[in-house]
Order: sequence, then structure tokens, then C-alpha cells
Amino acid sequence: MPYLILSDIHANLEALHAVLDDARGRYERILCLGDLVGYGADPNPVVEWARSNVDVIVRGNHDKDCSEAGPLDHYRSIAAVSAVWTRGQLTASNIEYLRALPRGPLRYEGIDLVHGSPADEDEYLLMESEAAAIRPYLETQATFFGHTHMQGGFLVAPRGVRELIPESFQLEPDYFYLLNPGSVGQPRDGDPRAAYILFDRDRGLVEFRRVEYDIETAARKIRQAGLPEGLALRLAVGG
Ligand code: ZN
Repeated sequence: MPYLILSDIHANLEALHAVLDDARGRYERILCLGDLVGYGADPNPVVEWARSNVDVIVRGNHDKDCSEAGPLDHYRSIAAVSAVWTRGQLTASNIEYLRALPRGPLRYEGIDLVHGSPADEDEYLLMESEAAAIRPYLETQATFFGHTHMQGGFLVAPRGVRELIPESFQLEPDYFYLLNPGSVGQPRDGDPRAAYILFDRDRGLVEFRRVEYDIETAARKIRQAGLPEGLALRLAVGG
């Protein structure tokens, strides 16, 4: 049975529920690449869901920054506003859980899990040249990463690196793969549907999935929480 691989849920409960409904009965473990919180209006329900359902998880930058009291000047203002709001919402035990999340890379059953990249949890892997530069850090055939909110990833071959189109395929020997499930709760690749991966490790099968969810409700909750309007608007455009 495959793993359900999720990243960047970002406190979007409607998107999370749609993904779980879509994947129901098709996986045996849930692996998460971080950023449970930040941006969205449901940080506590999403963290509580993770605490009781996620099997393996690495922390994301928002998990770290929303559960610590440190400065937020590395964020754009919209992210800083949402981090301050999220800090005020999280219960003490959810803050404790987020603080204790392990930093990637984390090895699980022969695959590596990271938030940003194997070299740096906060690095964005967006271009082929960036994927090529972290080749020395790849130790397992498949490394799953998030952080960019772009579904897809890279095939790292002996002679070069190629961006992957997010469609189902089978891993081939002799290649390394950097695989990004995309974002559950705030896609930025132009497709507003929630994104995830089903990965059958035994057969090496990767299935990129997208599913529609109730964007209107998620956006309304963001507005009702008094979070920046841009966070509500971007959900509908997936950007
Ligand atoms: Zn994120």
C-alpha cells in the first residue's frame, strides 16, 4: 500500500479534508513535509489532526516560526502578520508539538523527507540548476520535498537534471528523484486544487494528485479571522 505524502497544509482544513477523502483507502501511512500552519485560519484543528494521524513528519519554516517567539523580519509582511496571528491562536500543547518537530532530512524506509532541500530546510528548489547543486546531498533514490508549493520536482540523472511534469510514473534505477507533492493548502503553481502524492515504495510508483476543495469556505474563514485579504484571494488563483 502506498504512502500518502503531504506538504504545506498551511492551516487549510477544507483542503486537508478534500485530500483525505480523495485518497481514502489508498494508503497505509501518512508522511508530511512540514508547514502544517501559517496563512490559513485553522491552525489548531490541523495540528491536532497531524498529532493523531501523521506517521512521520519534518518541520517547516512556518511550524518553527509560529511556535517560537523569535523575530519575523525574514518574512514578507503578509507572512509575518499570519505568523503573529497563528502564535496567538495555537494552544500550549500544539505549540509544544510544533517546537518538537524534527528538522529534515529525515530518513524513513529508504526515502528521505525534507521541507526545503536536503542541504537546507529553508532552501527553495525551483530551478533545475538549484536541483543540480544539491546532487551531492542525495543519498536515497527518492527525496520528497515541499516549501515551494509547486507540484512536480526533478529527475537527477548522471548527465544532468530535468524538471518533472507532475504525472504518474515509475522510478527507474540509476536516477535520483526529487519529488514535490505540491501544497495541500496554498498551491502556487497556477492550479488552485489541493495537491498531494501517493507513493508506492515497493513498486516505485509515484502518483501526483490534485483535488478540488471548498475554497470559498477556506477564504471566508481567513477573512473572518482578520487575516490579510491577499491570503484569501490567492487560494482561488493558486498563485
Ligand atoms: Zn509552505
